[in-house]
Amino acid sequence: MGSWGLAACGDDGASTSDGTPRIVVSTNILGDVVRNLVGQHVDVEVIMPPNADPHDFAPSAQQAQAMREADVLVVNGSGFEKSLSDTIDAAEDDGVAVVTATDAVELLSFAAGGHDDEHAGKDEHASEDEHASEDEHEDHEGEDLDPHVFTDPARMATIVAALTEQLADEAPGLDSPTFHAAADRYRQELETLDAEVEALLASIPPERRVLVTNHDVFGYFAERYGFEVLGTVVPAGSTLAEPSAADLDDLAAAIARAGVPAIFADTSAPSRLADALAAEGAAVEVVELFTESLGPPGSGAATYVEMVRTNAERIASALSG
Ligand SMILES: [Zn+2]
Repeated sequence: MGSWGLAACGDDGASTSDGTPRIVVSTNILGDVVRNLVGQHVDVEVIMPPNADPHDFAPSAQQAQAMREADVLVVNGSGFEKSLSDTIDAAEDDGVAVVTATDAVELLSFAAGGHDDEHAGKDEHASEDEHASEDEHEDHEGEDLDPHVFTDPARMATIVAALTEQLADEAPGLDSPTFHAAADRYRQELETLDAEVEALLASIPPERRVLVTNHDVFGYFAERYGFEVLGTVVPAGSTLAEPSAADLDDLAAAIARAGVPAIFADTSAPSRLADALAAEGAAVEVVELFTESLGPPGSGAATYVEMVRTNAERIASALSG
């Protein structure tokens, strides 16, 4: 209260009447991260509720308006929030400072490449050619960069460092020693979490470090902790695709060949496909993970840190054998 001192520059209507910045965040994962950075005294409006499917979540009219009236709009980016993309573009056109988390880190191509190995080598030229993925705007079917960066807490720590600077620049009155100290503490907490996850997974022998997931969500986790993504039930990096019966047959065969003991479903998307795959005869356990949306309080994933820890515990318990 009263510490923002912004009366002099508040006449563009962008900030709230008491001068605190308006920060709006698309996903609940980034919402939790941003709340940890800005503290209790700044209102952060998070568009997606717990358990929302971020690929599929469309904003209400009121939420769309909040996004367009924000001082800063924080988004995941790289085609992740598909049903918010028009509103994000409109906010940017309105002059809202849009901060994109995936801009802060090196992006990977999708780990599994659907079930079609033809795609595996397609992106080799992408690293030198910065236009490779840009040209495919709107139609994300052809997009080959993976937006699920938050499955790697070390990458999230890098994102936090970038977010801290961008929020200090763009959110009125936020830049202060207290803000930077809190941000540093949270970044260190994520670095500690990264080490904790590595320790939790240490019990899984190398030959069992194989992931089969509902959709292609754990590429960054796999790279960070030395796993292979064997395949995905939905042959895509989005929950919006549907597998064919032939896709499921191929995956069931691959699972049987590899002797995979468990496959991982998204809590935020129906697990009927993973269940169908299990029913297909693959003798596998279906384990739910909080892949891309926080859960409600008490779920074990009410915060980003809890979510990462809970997933690591469940993966360790399912694959350690
Ligand atoms: Zn996803």
